[in-house]
Amino acid sequence: MPSDPALLSGRPLRVTALAGGVGGARFLRGLRRHLDAVAPDSELTVVANTGDDITLFGLRVCPDIDTLLYTLGGGVEESQGWGRAEESTRVQGELAAYGAEPQWFSLGDLDFGTHIVRSQWLGQGLTSSEVTARLATRWGLPEQGITLLPMTDVPVETHVVLEEDGEQRAVHFQEWWVRMQAAVPASRFVVAGLDRATAAPGVLDAIRQADVVVLPPSNPVVSIGIILGVPGVRDALRGTAAPVVGVSPLISGRPVRGHADACLSAIGVESSSAAVAGLYADFLDGWLVDPADADVSVRGVTTAMHPAPLLMTDVEATASIAGSLLELADRVRR
Ligand code: GDP
Ligand code: CA
Repeated sequence: MPSDPALLSGRPLRVTALAGGVGGARFLRGLRRHLDAVAPDSELTVVANTGDDITLFGLRVCPDIDTLLYTLGGGVEESQGWGRAEESTRVQGELAAYGAEPQWFSLGDLDFGTHIVRSQWLGQGLTSSEVTARLATRWGLPEQGITLLPMTDVPVETHVVLEEDGEQRAVHFQEWWVRMQAAVPASRFVVAGLDRATAAPGVLDAIRQADVVVLPPSNPVVSIGIILGVPGVRDALRGTAAPVVGVSPLISGRPVRGHADACLSAIGVESSSAAVAGLYADFLDGWLVDPADADVSVRGVTTAMHPAPLLMTDVEATASIAGSLLELADRVRR
């Protein structure tokens, strides 16, 4: 048995999370709330997917990082889970008047501020980590004990290979996800730049030195799956002494929002909570599922059922999911 005190003794914890956008950000806001209640000096390090990043109108847009910033910083449009609250779209209207493309990706006026300053700082030679740290400061993340790290400082982009009428073509992930609504079947994902990427400063240490590593209910293929492809990340997860626990993004085989099922089918994996845990089985210790999935069993992984629906309806409900996840982590400590 481990001799260190229980995770839930109230001592400050070092929690490290891998996250995509909306599902990740919502969960982490609830986790922060829970930690503030039970172990207030805990530190939360978030490793964000950057495979969704895209250059639009000459500006670097990092959708998952921006969703994390706005959600954890209290500036998100709650009704959609991304973008800024009280947003307007005058700039986009002007771009449309010029016939500028693309018009399928929605960028609000306040949101443009983020992309402009990010692009300016990147242009001045700052790394993505440095830029993200500056943006996080503006959103008050350090004061909340949250460190936000991009998974890598190397530009990587997830592309989707589509098969239409016997022809293959690749489009940027965002074009498939946003413009096509993932309705055209994907035959595979190719992550440009990932093989020569290295984890951003602090990422591997945050996994190795954590008291607990959590996987929010982010998309297992195009959010978590991309982070796991960064050289060294998967090995760090296999090697860490910390329990690694996750929340299922699927309830009764269906994603709560988005098209995770279309992503799973592209990689030949069944759309079920058990199959998602199976993708992580080489490093996952505990898996939290919805009551509807109480019968889920995954070899080598301890499953637990959250006593209420696994729905992040509000911050309190999400904090309670985070509480169940930490209890599970305490039970499965290696
Ligand atoms: P994205 O990058 O904005 O697509 O967001 P993520 O990858 O972080 O999260 C997307 C995943 O969150 C989807 O697969 C959803 O099924 C999952 N999700 C969203 N809301 C909920 C919820 O309330 N409960 C659970 N369990 N999963 C959710
Ligand atoms: Ca995303």
